[in-house]
Amino acid sequence: MKQIKVEEIELLYLTSDDLLLLSSNQIFLNNAQIEIEDLSYRLKPELFNQDDVRPIVVILPFKANFGNLNYFYWNNKPNLKELDLKVTQNNFTENDFEASVITRYQKTRCSNCGCWWDTLVVDEWNYFRTPGLGTAKIRQSKFKECPNCGESLRQCVVMIF
Ligand SMILES: [Zn+2]
Repeated sequence: MKQIKVEEIELLYLTSDDLLLLSSNQIFLNNAQIEIEDLSYRLKPELFNQDDVRPIVVILPFKANFGNLNYFYWNNKPNLKELDLKVTQNNFTENDFEASVITRYQKTRCSNCGCWWDTLVVDEWNYFRTPGLGTAKIRQSKFKECPNCGESLRQCVVMIF
């Protein structure tokens, strides 16, 4: 786990080794305690082992001791093992995150056929400080259709798993 600031957002960058840290909804960081909200719903262990996803805890801007479990999703087949190392050594750049977008886990229902899917959807709220960036992230995203009927899911779904 590493605390970093990316695109103006304070967050904890996690890897699969950090899954155990989330066995309770409180994590300790430099003697501070951070409480993670809605953890039981948002935590999907299978998302800790994906080639294009990294779990993060976004520190809430107005409530410094609280965080949300979110997931970075990259749309450009990144080498995240390399990025993990760069983050650990503090020599990443903003370019490493250019193709990423902050998402959250949610169950999404297709309004056409009624199927439910485990999905990652763009969590646009995180870009409130940088609305232009939020718009750019939406524009660069490819949104998934329902795997069952092929209709639009009418949400900013970037991954179905
Ligand atoms: Zn459908």
